[in-house]
Amino acid sequence: MKNIILLGAPGAGKGTQAALIAKQYAVPHISTGDILRRNIKDGTPLGLKAKQFIDAGALVPDDVVIGLVELRLKEEDCKNGYILDGFPRTIPQAEALDRVANIHLAINIDVPFDVIVGRLGGRRVCVCGETYHVSTLNGETKCKKCGKELFIRDDDKPETVRNRLKVYEEQTQPLIDYYKAQGKLATIPATGSIDEIFAEVKKVLDD
Ligand code: AMP
Repeated sequence: MKNIILLGAPGAGKGTQAALIAKQYAVPHISTGDILRRNIKDGTPLGLKAKQFIDAGALVPDDVVIGLVELRLKEEDCKNGYILDGFPRTIPQAEALDRVANIHLAINIDVPFDVIVGRLGGRRVCVCGETYHVSTLNGETKCKKCGKELFIRDDDKPETVRNRLKVYEEQTQPLIDYYKAQGKLATIPATGSIDEIFAEVKKVLDD
């Protein structure tokens, strides 16, 4: 297996696809968003620092996330490949990553902006990590997997969503050209079902 990056706007389904890839290819799924949220929940110094940025829909400073990813990639389970979800999100992060890792492929999950806005507004999540869209819940408010009450991420509130999309356009979208220039970009038009998109992802990975 290779060292893979998933690119895509917030709500494009990076987390969902990364989890499927991790399972299928037995590599760790490294989500900077998940690591930061866990630190916020545990009240660590990193979490306290990150919370203000996340709640505003802004990016956590580059040095903070670069440091935590560099540490994570040194762990034993990353020796045979990994899937990075939500990192890099800026050109300086991508450059820092290139200094410590050999990235083989950047998969861009390409979803139209109007679809993204609808998805983030309807996203419901559980502390266990499951994610749902309100339209599929039929009024159910509890997690189908573990039974806990579902909630809306603070950064999925409308004003914050608008800000996250602006940040994406300004700071993260340039990464598409960055990896294209390195000949590492694969773009997947991702408007189908989760399974259909995963089938496309597998084609690219098995190539
Ligand atoms: P995510 O779960 O990937 O959507 O991340 C949620 C939030 O965590 C983002 O809106 C950012 O505030 C922060 N975050 C996650 N990954 C990064 C990153 N690579 N660089 C900066 N901030 C990040």
